[in-house]
Amino acid sequence: MSAIADVAKLLEQIPIWKRLKGMPAEIEGLQARVAALEALVKTRPAAETCPLCNSGSLKVTSVKPHPIFGDVGGLQERTMKCDNSGIVPEPVENGAAGAVG
Ligand SMILES: [Zn+2]
Repeated sequence: MSAIADVAKLLEQIPIWKRLKGMPAEIEGLQARVAALEALVKTRPAAETCPLCNSGSLKVTSVKPHPIFGDVGGLQERTMKCDNSGIVPEPVENGAAGAVG
């Protein structure tokens, strides 16, 4: 048996060697998943940043017809909540920037 074959046989007995051998395929799979996720993120609108803590994202927690114009023009009133500070700013109309309180 050649020296190279001996080294290869010896490496097969080291548990981490099996993981190292599988890493190129694993990395390629992860690269493909990251690329697919990046492409998906580009199709989504960016979340609105919380105007009070400037680090959280505002998530819509409820949507209801506007109390005055809901029946006329289909205007909506959205209630949002910050996923960082938990602050609930004043409801906004159709997602437009509104008063914060
Ligand atoms: Zn916040």
